[in-house]
Amino acid sequence: MSRIAVIGSNMVDLVSYVDRMPLEGETLEAPRFVIGCGGKGANQAIAAARTGADVLFITRVGDDIFSEQTIRNLQDSGIDTKYVKKSPGFSSGVAPIFVHPDSHNSILIIKGANRCLNAASIEEAADDIQKCALIVLQLEVELEAVYAAIDFGARHHIPVLLNPAPAIADLDENSIGKLDFLVPNETELSLISGMPVTSTETTRLAARALLAKGVKNVIATLGVQGALYVGQEGEWVVPGITVQAVDTTGAGDAFVGCFARFWSETRDIRAAMEKAVLYSACSVTACGTQTSYPDPLKFQEFQE
Ligand code: ATP
Repeated sequence: MSRIAVIGSNMVDLVSYVDRMPLEGETLEAPRFVIGCGGKGANQAIAAARTGADVLFITRVGDDIFSEQTIRNLQDSGIDTKYVKKSPGFSSGVAPIFVHPDSHNSILIIKGANRCLNAASIEEAADDIQKCALIVLQLEVELEAVYAAIDFGARHHIPVLLNPAPAIADLDENSIGKLDFLVPNETELSLISGMPVTSTETTRLAARALLAKGVKNVIATLGVQGALYVGQEGEWVVPGITVQAVDTTGAGDAFVGCFARFWSETRDIRAAMEKAVLYSACSVTACGTQTSYPDPLKFQEFQE
């Protein structure tokens, strides 16, 4: 089985279900509170592991009570946590989320220890990353770490996949040009390319513009419509799967984790995209983020 290195963020979601937000200076009782594990890096690591990948996750956790839960959660999915290290003096990455009765959420992000991931963190794990078939990145950590990982992949001939989320404009063109896979949603594609993305045709045009900058393969996720490929092997669309969607949070991370697993094993882009479209569609039929990622048995049942 080939190994995948996921380098990125982890967060602890602190979810309060509120009837309304407290006014300034007011203390208000809320009916319910839950803690969940999240962060784009962790989500993609968990999705890859749940589809059967051997995953090495490189991240930083805080010097607080949340770190143990984060590490246990990763290990429960069989992820190698050798480089999930504590950053003394920092809190863990946390996201206090307020879920309103009308389903509108208010979210705060405190990156905490995620900010400590840097170029040295990549070098420290060099021997282990070099044994991986694919490096998977997102943009929820400092750009210094992202660019160092892209450069590391290029120097050691390890393919690199970047999911450019959350969307950031003005990414370093030299780094983007070294990518083997760029996997944006439509908003992220528009921001990175500087072009409108409003239809399949404009998505193709924006993806082609990134190919001209050196990216080898662009896979744009299109929500309910599936995913579009523009790259070295041509152009195609893998249509979405019609399901009864209950919660689409984390669908993009499910797609990336699943794609990484199947591509690193088969090197078949189209087949890996087909699996990823199925896996992410299955994930939107359940509530939550990581809690909605099916294990191999549930995924098998979904495909039958
Ligand atoms: P998120 O930010 O919610 O994680 P995203 O914007 O990064 O998602 P999307 O393009 O919305 O990514 O979704 C990723 C993949 O999930 C899609 O390519 C598709 O396969 C699947 N998907 C998303 N929404 C639906 C849906 N309503 N029905 C079926 N499949 C879906």
